[in-house]
Amino acid sequence: MKVFPTVDLIICNATIATASDVLLNQDIAVSQGKIVLLGQHLTSLFSAAQVIDAEGAYVTPGGVDSHAHLDQDNSVTGDTFETGTRSAVAGGTTTVFAFATQKRSDESVIPVVEDYHRRATGNAYCDYGFHLILTNPTNKIVDEELPTLVTDGGITSVKLYMTYEPLKLGDREILDVMECTRRLGMTTMVHAENSEMINWITEKLEARKMTEPYYHAVSRPKIAEDEATYRVISLSELIDIPILIVHMSSRVAVSHVRKAQTRLLPIHAETCPHYLFLTSERLKGEIFEGAKCVCSPPLREDPMELEEMWKGLSNGTFTTFSSDHAPSKFDHPQGKKAGLVDGTMSFKKIPNGLPGVETRMATLFCGGVLTGRISIQRFVELTSSNPAKLYGLGDRKGTIAPGYDADFASGIRRRNKPSSAVLRRRWLRSPSPTRCCIMTSTTRPSKAWSSRTGRATPSCGGRSSGTGTMEACWARWAMESS
Ligand SMILES: [Zn+2]
Repeated sequence: MKVFPTVDLIICNATIATASDVLLNQDIAVSQGKIVLLGQHLTSLFSAAQVIDAEGAYVTPGGVDSHAHLDQDNSVTGDTFETGTRSAVAGGTTTVFAFATQKRSDESVIPVVEDYHRRATGNAYCDYGFHLILTNPTNKIVDEELPTLVTDGGITSVKLYMTYEPLKLGDREILDVMECTRRLGMTTMVHAENSEMINWITEKLEARKMTEPYYHAVSRPKIAEDEATYRVISLSELIDIPILIVHMSSRVAVSHVRKAQTRLLPIHAETCPHYLFLTSERLKGEIFEGAKCVCSPPLREDPMELEEMWKGLSNGTFTTFSSDHAPSKFDHPQGKKAGLVDGTMSFKKIPNGLPGVETRMATLFCGGVLTGRISIQRFVELTSSNPAKLYGLGDRKGTIAPGYDADFASGIRRRNKPSSAVLRRRWLRSPSPTRCCIMTSTTRPSKAWSSRTGRATPSCGGRSSGTGTMEACWARWAMESS
């Protein structure tokens, strides 16, 4: 009798989309969390513990969200690693980069990174990594600790702020850090807004009692982003180092990036869902509702700004599309309503940020792929391949190929045809052809930061309890579809 080799999972009839190709009618065999083979009729070659029929659906690499704020001290009502990564997986994202934040008073960043590992370990539903936020880059940290974190700590990137009093660095400090990250091959991320402009306008607005949520956007005009973007590009050119400018919202700032790229400077840029879909009109909601949309840089007034962000996604200016997930509870004294005390509004006290880790993939798939603004390959590049490469995971994540991690997301392939998928004996059918169903299957629920090797798999971790992540996601989709 013929004995078939066994694999854990076969996804069959998939339309595989990667950053470069669309492969029709493919089966994907998965074993021990890795893709072992792509091809046709794999069910006749292997016996599989589980078979999923993905007919009518794209199967793409799982999303890599390279900008999500989880369990940070400055966001008391935000997401924990448990709630945030659960949302990520529900939305097709299988790897999340969060932040380990140095406080100004921290003289060493090694305990900072260890502390954030403790917050995440055993609590995450998907793989995760950290960017290190540097707020006080002393000589000891820059010369001694960063090299150690790169070799032993799985840290491949730092994030620097040009604004926010507790976080911001001066140009001189930014140059010092860049000189070091260049040597170490780390990615340097920068939040680019001109702090002095913002402080100056904020004081003027406060003096006139213009403190409702809407004035948060007034206090951070586009020119503050434009100037800081140009300045940090200049700093990076001086040091000759690649940088990534995070969460861009202004067309002039994006044009600075574009011009730098045409001069072959290694300038990368990121934008986020809210800069594609929302204008500052959202900040005018009644009864302090506008606070829900307070973020920095702020939502922009002119819809043309949004169009330019779309253009940057399609013409290749943006390298990554991240969520900048930073939720806060609304009706909570330490949430958004920290900016509403005894009936007095103060936009300065409203915690910054919008949620997005769950909706990032769906919004770009619906607004970009289904409308024809970007190709499915570009979607994969922006949401998965590029962030994986930029942050040191390019050899295991960001594409669908033998040897790569078996992280997948799936969405409707054809606009006018309902998609369907089978999980075990259950049929799931999406009710609307234009509805975007992003489903996730991360098949490596037992991979943990250090449980197997005792040391870091670079920038990766995961829940170690063996929770059936895939089943949970599909079940969720079934619930929503019914
Ligand atoms: Zn952020």
